[in-house]
Amino acid sequence: MPELPELEVVCEVLQRRVVGQAIQAVKIIPPGGPIVVRDLTNLGFAAALTGAAFQQVVRRGKFLIFSLQAAGSPIYLALNPKLSGRLQLATPAEKLRPKTLVVFSLASGQQLRYLDPKQMGQLYLVHDLAVLPDYANLGPEALEISLGEFRARLKPFRGEIKGVLTRGDFVAGIGNAYADEILWQARLHPYRKRTQLSANDVDALYAAMRVTLLEAIEKVRAEMQENIDLKPRDFMAVHMKTGQPCPRCGTPISLVGANQRITNFCRTCQPGGLIKGM
Ligand SMILES: [Zn+2]
Repeated sequence: MPELPELEVVCEVLQRRVVGQAIQAVKIIPPGGPIVVRDLTNLGFAAALTGAAFQQVVRRGKFLIFSLQAAGSPIYLALNPKLSGRLQLATPAEKLRPKTLVVFSLASGQQLRYLDPKQMGQLYLVHDLAVLPDYANLGPEALEISLGEFRARLKPFRGEIKGVLTRGDFVAGIGNAYADEILWQARLHPYRKRTQLSANDVDALYAAMRVTLLEAIEKVRAEMQENIDLKPRDFMAVHMKTGQPCPRCGTPISLVGANQRITNFCRTCQPGGLIKGM
C-alpha cells in the first residue's frame, strides 16, 4: 500500500508532468476498470474528464486529489490506491502492463495509466471532496501536526500503538509499513498499549514519526525519480526484513501476522508488549 512518502513524491512528479495538461481521451479497460472507477457526479467518468485539464495535484493522507475544470465548473478526480493501486507515466507506444485498468491520454502525448492487480483502489469523480468515503474524517497530516496536538489527539485512544498510528482519523498518511518503521525508530514495541506509554515515549514517537517520514521522502525521491509506478522500500530498517539483522543492534528482525497485516520489529530495541501487562 503506498503511504505518505511514496504518494508525496508521486504528487511532486505529477505536478511537473501532468498539471496544465488537457485529457484528450479516457479509456476504462474491462473487466477491472469499471470496478475501480466511481463517478459520483452523474456526468459520466470518461465524458466529464475528456477535454478537461489538470489544474492541480495535491496529496491528502493516502489520497491523491486532482483538480480539473470540466465544462466551466470545478471537478475532482480523487485516487485512493488502497492495497495495490499505482500510477504510471508512459508513452502510447509502451505496451500496457497487466492489470492496467484506466488510461488517460494527455495533450503532451504522454499517458497517465492506473494499474491495480487487486482492483481494490478507487478513482472517484466528485464535485465535492466531502462526499469521499474516509476523507472528511481524516486527521491532520502526519508532517503538519504539532507536538502539542499530537499529544492531545493521542490521548483518547487506548489500544495498541501500532493500530493507533495507522488510523487515518488520528493522523493522515501512515499505513502498515511506515508504522513499523516509525515504531522501530522510536524504540517502542508495536503492541504496547497507548495507555502504557510515558510522556517521554509519546514525545519520542512524535519525533520518530517526523524523522522517519522526512528521511523516507528523500530516499524515495532519489530512487523513484520519474518512475511513479515504483515503490522503493529497500532502505527500510525492519518492515519486510524478517530474519535480517536489526540495523541498530544486529538482532534478527521478528515477524508477527501474515499477508498484508504483517508487523516487523526488533525484540531487543523494542522490548515488551507481547507479555500481558507489559
Ligand atoms: Zn535492534
